[in-house]
Amino acid sequence: MKTLNGSCLCGAIQFRVADAFDYVGNCHCSECRKFSGSDYAPAGGLSAEHFAFIQGEETVRYYEKSPATTLAFCPTCGSSLFSIKSDTGRYNIRLGALDDTPSQKPSFHIHVDSKAPWLTINDKLTRYPGHPESL
Ligand SMILES: [Zn+2]
Ligand SMILES: [Zn+2]
Repeated sequence: MKTLNGSCLCGAIQFRVADAFDYVGNCHCSECRKFSGSDYAPAGGLSAEHFAFIQGEETVRYYEKSPATTLAFCPTCGSSLFSIKSDTGRYNIRLGALDDTPSQKPSFHIHVDSKAPWLTINDKLTRYPGHPESL
């Protein structure tokens, strides 16, 4: 299976994922906005067996933002890398952390009801007001 490499800004943390996300979409929730420092956060979800660290696993810091979601980031450069869902064990990889180009592109927007007020969504992708049950 084709794989994609990802890393943080300073390069201390490197990981590899399968180029086969279960879904790829843009999250507009206020928490992703804070964590990413951006208008919204594009992410691709996959199960844990499709994720592996190449280096820096011991460097990664985790922030449990809720019982359902833990966020992973680099303590040196501050890059947000991925989240882990406690119920499914699924990893949501921040697309911006990837060094390679994934085959898939974002196909939907979630939490559009809480999108950044200054942002205008100009594409035709599916928009969900909140978080759909299927994700
Ligand atoms: Zn770093
Ligand atoms: Zn979010």
